[in-house]
Amino acid sequence: MSTVHIPNLIGGEEVAGDGLERYNPADPAELVAVAPASGTEAVGAAVTAAAAAQPAWAALPAPARGAILLDAAEILRGRHEEAARDLVREEGKTLPEARGEVRRAIDVLRFFGSEGWRLGGQVLPSSLPDTMVHTRREPLGVAGLITPWNFPIAIPAWKMAPALISGNTVVLKPAELTPLSTRHLTQALVRAGLPAGVLNVVHGTGAVVGEALVCDPRVAAVSFTGSTTVGMRIERTVQERRGRVQVEMGGKNALVVLDDADVEQAARIAVAGGFGLTGQACTASSRVICTPGVHDDFVAALIKEAARFRPGDGLADGTLMGPVVSKQQLATVTAAIERARSEGATFAAGGEAPEELMLAPTVLTGLDRGSAAAREEIFGPVVTVLQAADLEEAIDLVNDSRYGLAAGLCTRNLAAAQRFAAGVRVGVVKVNRPTTGLDLNVPFGGVGDSSSNTFREQGAVAVDF
Ligand code: NAD
Repeated sequence: MSTVHIPNLIGGEEVAGDGLERYNPADPAELVAVAPASGTEAVGAAVTAAAAAQPAWAALPAPARGAILLDAAEILRGRHEEAARDLVREEGKTLPEARGEVRRAIDVLRFFGSEGWRLGGQVLPSSLPDTMVHTRREPLGVAGLITPWNFPIAIPAWKMAPALISGNTVVLKPAELTPLSTRHLTQALVRAGLPAGVLNVVHGTGAVVGEALVCDPRVAAVSFTGSTTVGMRIERTVQERRGRVQVEMGGKNALVVLDDADVEQAARIAVAGGFGLTGQACTASSRVICTPGVHDDFVAALIKEAARFRPGDGLADGTLMGPVVSKQQLATVTAAIERARSEGATFAAGGEAPEELMLAPTVLTGLDRGSAAAREEIFGPVVTVLQAADLEEAIDLVNDSRYGLAAGLCTRNLAAAQRFAAGVRVGVVKVNRPTTGLDLNVPFGGVGDSSSNTFREQGAVAVDF
């Protein structure tokens, strides 16, 4: 496959550049994409273009803005397979996972495009006679959006679509590792007829491009998804200059398996949430907490299921798990595995040295709740199995974390499910479903160091008894 050269998009003009090189994680000889390692002047120009375009964009009727998003959804749908294959080559997902991600981006564009018909304020009674009051929803201005590599089509769509439909203009800084995937989305929006300057894309490093975007006082709102370390810094910086900021960050999501669970089903749920997407999802089930009556049977079933997740090229038929995204990420994950070894973990699965970026699914047992593998986000195919005496101790263990993104429960007991949903401090609860996977109608965010902490509505409870 030939290498794709990806330009910046500033004020409707494509600006070529290089400096960022992306190789296929399943085939390190294949240079997939080259993108600009931009400087701060590109960010300044993009923000200028976005600020200039914003009043006219906000003045367009919301259904007209929505029509462009809906057209973009159709354009992306027409390129669904090409985008999915590029996503596999660039990020390392399996093809079914990549198809699912592109599908999600299409749905997001449709969902928010349709919102154009519903965006409005409220009509409310007044304390004065013969008076009616109504509220209007106002755009903020220029939105600076910073996105991670693990969902390089779906997450930018999820940030851009609500910003655009509400009359904001956008400067997007995509992740360095996945410029080509994000390009499929931005091209669809441009081809659908977004006016020049409404969407601007500046490629480059977080330290240069991300930082400049965060610090620019003309950027009214920043929305970031990525690691907690970076997100917390961004939150402070934007708050100090009195901008609006939303940060979606890491997780250490637990799946609790109770004695009454269907063990085979629980093991399938655990591998889908722990090894699907190579464990590189913010909502990945990286901890499983078992009650005593189910622990040994569950671990045996998990080992069997994990064996199906042999890592391979995501484009090959039958691959259930792709490679780790990069050498740097592999170094982080293998360091966490070695730390677990030094803390006395038993390797129920995995533990061998990886071939290139192909890391076997790893199941750790015998660790206590204070161990690093039980507490820290690893962001790779590593699942730590812990024990709790009963549901209440399991809830306590779920909550014994700096994070609070998602949690899952496997049970046949509806009362236990309701107690769990009420007791855990997380953004999304799943019952008899993997912790990964989201529903568009469900609010998404978390508590603690997972999110901005402005979010207070718990998301889905998917129940399957
Ligand atoms: P990362 O924080 O390294 O990078 C995310 C983005 O921020 C990239 O575009 C990067 O270039 C940029 N960035 C880095 N340093 C910056 C700085 N100083 N200023 C401004 N921008 C900067 O994260 P990553 O490795 O790309 O993604 C993995 C992380 O993302 C994991 O922790 C995962 O849990 C998290 N994540 C969270 C969610 C969620 O919705 N909560 C979703 C996906 C991923």
